[in-house]
Amino acid sequence: MNSSTQTLDTFNRLLQTAKTVSDLSSASAVLGWDQETYMPDGAAEERAEQLSTLQALIHQMMTSDEIGTLIDQLGSNGSEGELEEWQRATLREIIRNREQAVKLPEAFVREMSKVTSLAQQSWKRGRMAADFSIFRDDLARIIDIKRRHADYIGFAENPYDALIDLYEPGMTAAQLRPVFDRLKAGTVRLLDKINASPNPVSDDILFTQFGAEKQVAFAKDTIKQIGFNFTDGRVDLSAHPFCTSFGIRDVRLTTRVYEDDLRSCLFGLIHEAGHGMYEQGIDRQYTRTPLAEGTSMGIHESQSLFWENMIGRSPEFWRWAYPALQSTFPDRLSSISAEEFFRIVNVMKPSMIRVEADELTYNLHIILRFEIEDDLINGRLEVDHIPEVWNAKMEEYLGIVPANDAEGCLQDVHWSFGGQGYFPSYSLGKLYAAMFQRVMLKDIPDYYGQIERGEFGEILGWLRTHIHRWGKAKSPSELTMEICGEPLSESAFLEYIEGKIDRVYY
Ligand code: ZN
Repeated sequence: MNSSTQTLDTFNRLLQTAKTVSDLSSASAVLGWDQETYMPDGAAEERAEQLSTLQALIHQMMTSDEIGTLIDQLGSNGSEGELEEWQRATLREIIRNREQAVKLPEAFVREMSKVTSLAQQSWKRGRMAADFSIFRDDLARIIDIKRRHADYIGFAENPYDALIDLYEPGMTAAQLRPVFDRLKAGTVRLLDKINASPNPVSDDILFTQFGAEKQVAFAKDTIKQIGFNFTDGRVDLSAHPFCTSFGIRDVRLTTRVYEDDLRSCLFGLIHEAGHGMYEQGIDRQYTRTPLAEGTSMGIHESQSLFWENMIGRSPEFWRWAYPALQSTFPDRLSSISAEEFFRIVNVMKPSMIRVEADELTYNLHIILRFEIEDDLINGRLEVDHIPEVWNAKMEEYLGIVPANDAEGCLQDVHWSFGGQGYFPSYSLGKLYAAMFQRVMLKDIPDYYGQIERGEFGEILGWLRTHIHRWGKAKSPSELTMEICGEPLSESAFLEYIEGKIDRVYY
């Protein structure tokens, strides 16, 4: 065997193991999806065991000597250069996943899983009672665990970076801080502009009665028309909407429907379809490899938010989609025009709850969490002071103060499962999406005309070519540099959102 055949042979053996891991992860995802959609309540305990068995098998395989030896063989004789680009990317991801697995001692993983599962219960109780003190001790334990987690992973200057990196590879707090500071200042300025509007908008009509079945049918038809592929995917109902994939050709979306809130089902499903079309667009050559998923949480959110907000909340979109919505709900919408409806679904005003926040003020909710997490992990903020710091920042940034902890610092599940470092992804998604749209507008001169005619093929094709097909083969910063020729910035988003504010409020 010559060295190049040998390299390929070693790589293929490693790839085979990675594919087995991928199959186990997909099986685990099926069980998780079923748990949220169809599983009877009685199955909860057994299901938890089944999921933890699969997770243990995955962990064993990733930390096995066999994988270690194969990686060493590929690395040590400098043979990586003999691999094709996608093979090198696959190897890089296998190494990253293995390092994340071996760096954490088994006792630590067990401790983390136990503490977070208890914390999720005390968080629920605390939120129900609107009382932070019920969650306080568990949260203190989690902050301690996340600091140790960061130490195990390793970091250059800030332990919080190690946690951000779990969701947004390569991103650091130092990179985010100046971007978020400018975004915060820009948002506060734009809120003043909205407050000074001579032309306020009421969205009360959205919270009247809309039949559930009709809402779901309309939302499903909408995502089909924008390009979600139902041959390789499906939609079901769940308490919290999500997107999961068991493979490039099996992408599952869920939605929920409220008869007294027209936004939730429709925009929620367009959002999830944005995630789903990303997964469906990955190069099929990557099937069952570590490259067959989105490259980061931030880039994933850029895809869902692009479709939800930049397409789904644009005036052009509603000029096309509104007649069908109006004939679905004639008694509610017959006296409202498409242009008015566009304004109604773009109402922007400060509110307490992140998940209900509009496109503009949403970022302030994220920046607040980012600052608090950074201070907590670095020991500049004590857990006991979270409620008062939270409320002070709400007042400073949004001009409103939560009446209690349930609508303040207890509103999100993330801290209870140890998801510190996750929140920045949401705002990154908005910033990336605006940066991508700016380039798309140059590449597709008839961009708005196409949306207005309900033609989404070229837009989806652009996303496929530049983003989707690469899966995890390119990092978020590589993608951004290649597409936009500049690193992460808030300017495209602020420019985009100001254009919309002018249109809605002036
Ligand atoms: Zn999302």
